[in-house]
Amino acid sequence: MKRRKFVQLSGMGIIGAPIADFSPKWSRFTFSPEIIVIGAGTFGVWTAYHLNQMGAKVTLLDAYGPGNSRASSGGETRLIQADNDNQVYVQSAIRSYNWWKKLEKVSGERLVLSTGRLAMSQQEIYRQHALSRKRQLESQGINNTEVLNQDEIRYRWPQIYSDDIVTAMYNGGGPSGSTLLARKGCQVVAREFEKNGGTLTIAQGIPVVKNGKVEGIRAGNESLKAQFYVFACGPWLPKIFPELLMPKLKVERRDVLFVGTPPGNNEFSYPNLPEWSVYKSGFYGFPNIEGRGFKVVIYPDYNSFDPDTDERIINSYQVKRTHDFVKQRFPALSGQPITESRVCQVTNSIDGNFIVDQLPSSENTWIVGAGSGHGFKHGPAIGEYTAKRILGEQVDQEFDQLFKLKEKAF
Ligand SMILES: Cc1cc2nc3c(=O)[nH]c(=O)nc-3n(C[C@H](O)[C@H](O)[C@H](O)COP(=O)(O)OP(=O)(O)OC[C@H]3O[C@@H](n4cnc5c(N)ncnc54)[C@H](O)[C@@H]3O)c2cc1C
Repeated sequence: MKRRKFVQLSGMGIIGAPIADFSPKWSRFTFSPEIIVIGAGTFGVWTAYHLNQMGAKVTLLDAYGPGNSRASSGGETRLIQADNDNQVYVQSAIRSYNWWKKLEKVSGERLVLSTGRLAMSQQEIYRQHALSRKRQLESQGINNTEVLNQDEIRYRWPQIYSDDIVTAMYNGGGPSGSTLLARKGCQVVAREFEKNGGTLTIAQGIPVVKNGKVEGIRAGNESLKAQFYVFACGPWLPKIFPELLMPKLKVERRDVLFVGTPPGNNEFSYPNLPEWSVYKSGFYGFPNIEGRGFKVVIYPDYNSFDPDTDERIINSYQVKRTHDFVKQRFPALSGQPITESRVCQVTNSIDGNFIVDQLPSSENTWIVGAGSGHGFKHGPAIGEYTAKRILGEQVDQEFDQLFKLKEKAF
């Protein structure tokens, strides 16, 4: 979709509701509630940002800093896509995209790359799925989805081995096919939050709980008190509220490897290759962005992970899997070395939905998390929704139901 058309549609509220301007709204409340947000990943920074914009006095704590390398939001890149089985996530992704773009403008930093997204499949049945996703996006005013045949894929991206690919969905940028610079995104939101009067502190925040009620936060030698507390601690949540959340959240590691591109070759670099995936292959990834290498993400077998203490070392089996995969799918990368690696973690709830809810025993305390494998992009809309709930503003009840802490456990 042409940018002018997109701006026109978003302004009319067709692509998500129009978003508020960035000027502080101190006059909205007759009092400034004091709120401590613990965790400066995508959910925490955006919650703090919105609360601050809405007139609250906010302190944001992070044990290691916004977008740090232990955080789930700490990687180089994250995909933004808008199609989803659930319309709530479609709306949230579109709204979030608009916020990320707006933040780019306000901060003067580049955070969104129009990489495009290529979802390939070896199975003909995928074509039906792709066509239905195309219709879903078009119903939201997003008209840049193509369903491709093998010949078109081979012609447009000859660097991909596609003899066994029968169809693909291609999204040409915008909310359904762009790449967010993840760590940088968290840092920029935090910086804008501080510019707008928020306080960011590097400290580990431990809840002080009496009879189930959170009465304050212990941060080093200090004891902090506020009217509301928000725990946006990603994979740390089960460790912070073990009795409640250990049975309801699963934290799993995911290995990320960067393969060097051959000398003098830019066919695997942005903008010459989109974000890519091969349906049911267990692999997806990104082009070489900012010289970091060609990124390959591997879906693991089941495992469990402690984000504070577990080693972030990739084993030789995963290195071999990556080499074998790129040799077959991206032959010109065969024999290129792994130039960097990361270990990240995903936090899954019992039904796969995010959680935004009050602690059952403590009305003044909110939990925001369970971002699973697709939470990053939604930070702006989830942060806005969380801020509104805390401050008692009207929100969509469909969101409330979806993000409720469920009774069931694993
Ligand atoms: C390999 C991988 C690929 C992914 N790909 C995508 C993708 O393409 N698109 C997408 O949208 N999503 C993707 N995701 C999912 C996404 O990254 C996560 O859902 C999201 O980052 C979760 O953010 P969060 O704010 O909940 O948690 P985090 O980012 O982990 O933030 C939690 C923060 O809390 C802090 N903290 C924890 N405990 C304390 C404490 N006691 N005191 C102070 N601070 C504390 C931590 O330091 C951390 O900064 C991917 C995830 C992984 C691992």
